[in-house]
Amino acid sequence: MNYSFDLIVLGAGSGGLAAAKRASSYGARVALVEGDRVGGTCVIRGCVPKKLLLYGSNYSQSLKAASSFGVTFENTKFDAAKLLSNVRDEVSRLSEIHMDSLVNAGVKLIPGWGSFLSQNSISVTNISSISEQRVIDSKYILVAVGGRPTRPNIPGSELAWVSDDLFLQRTLPKHIVIVGAGYIACEFSTILNGLGVEVTQIVRGDRLLRGFDHELAKELELNMIDQGIKLKFGENIQSISGIIGDLKVTTGTNEIDCNSVLFATGRKPFLENLGLDIANIKTENERIIVDDKQTTNVANIFAVGDVTDNINLTPVAIEEGRAFADSIFGESPRKVNHKLVAKAVFSDPEIASIGLTQLEANKLYGENLIRVYTSRFRPMSKALFKTGSVCFLKLIVKSDTDIILGCHMAGEHSAEIIQMASIAIGMAATKEDFDKTMALHPTIAEEFVTMR
Ligand code: NDP
Repeated sequence: MNYSFDLIVLGAGSGGLAAAKRASSYGARVALVEGDRVGGTCVIRGCVPKKLLLYGSNYSQSLKAASSFGVTFENTKFDAAKLLSNVRDEVSRLSEIHMDSLVNAGVKLIPGWGSFLSQNSISVTNISSISEQRVIDSKYILVAVGGRPTRPNIPGSELAWVSDDLFLQRTLPKHIVIVGAGYIACEFSTILNGLGVEVTQIVRGDRLLRGFDHELAKELELNMIDQGIKLKFGENIQSISGIIGDLKVTTGTNEIDCNSVLFATGRKPFLENLGLDIANIKTENERIIVDDKQTTNVANIFAVGDVTDNINLTPVAIEEGRAFADSIFGESPRKVNHKLVAKAVFSDPEIASIGLTQLEANKLYGENLIRVYTSRFRPMSKALFKTGSVCFLKLIVKSDTDIILGCHMAGEHSAEIIQMASIAIGMAATKEDFDKTMALHPTIAEEFVTMR
């Protein structure tokens, strides 16, 4: 059968872009269908704009600390509108770079929303005119449409923002209520607090950052309280009322007046209008089921990234996209190793982890087979200022083999440090390997090789 393409990719986010370009590099004829701007969640409304806001937010700490280094500023001013607008400009610039990179890679970008017509054909609906449709077909199809933030089903939920909305704002609220205790809630609580917004965070459970080592999460909690963020544990949001800009949030025990509410209550795959049933593609709990080669139950249809709701992180989607393209169009079939994935929360303090938490290690091997090393200190950058978040480092070691099972950190540069530690952990480094590594002084990371 003669198809017009070898591969159609649905979604120009991290996974889709990586797969399309890699497949094209092997000579495949690739079409990439995208109804929004090119770049996906990470570039348009996630990692990139978030990190830029974080850099802006860090200035408040630096300005406060400056006088202890003998530097004083007079009449400092913060212009939120300027920051938000500059971030939007940078996002547009990056989106265009990604579009150019598709052209350079020989990938055909087809603007519009794609929907399955059969297991080999896709109908693309024009973004500006839904009556305009085009049908394309291909031997292989890759679904990489990502996910969308969820909204709890409560009265007034439409009055709240989700993380996407934050990046569209022209100014910042005076007081925001953030719902959730995961990545987005903790990152935005500290970023917005640093930008001068009063933050109340409502957490339904009794701790932050489920899935992270408890001591790291506790470190973040203590620092957030120290920064003036109001953390309300064990409370569930029940309703939002009022008008945008002047809202009232009710929980079982509290009524909170605020200007904005942010739901940071998780994300789910974006399956609407994909026509998965027409192509008989199986889903489970609103996610596309794939095997370890990213194949769906239909042999020529694959899925990568958040739409599979496996590990919803940009580098994982990119690696899944590239592994798919290498396997189908290249000469070296391979699978992604999902077992050892580093993760970071860009809160203040920054949190980063690789490997097992203490709880997971205890459950897997038993407490008697686990050694735990920790170090908590104020970094030298804060020595003169004498305030601000401390550093907390933790190693989980298996006693009989001396292999490091987990390496965790809260504090400045933790994501950069854990990124490099991941190489050693991936090579099954032992505590002895860490110990015999010469320290680099004075640094924060040297604590990892001098722990007793
Ligand atoms: P998370 O899954 O990290 O956290 C969701 C939070 O919302 C949890 O604390 C959960 O509570 C809470 N929650 C869920 N439903 C409700 C509800 N109905 N009422 C109150 N609280 C609720 O999701 P995020 O939205 O923060 O982020 C989505 C994903 O995006 C992340 O999982 C991550 O994969 C990715 N991401 C990664 C980042 C990074 O790499 N730095 C940054 C941002 C996002 P409970 O714990 O009790 O279930």
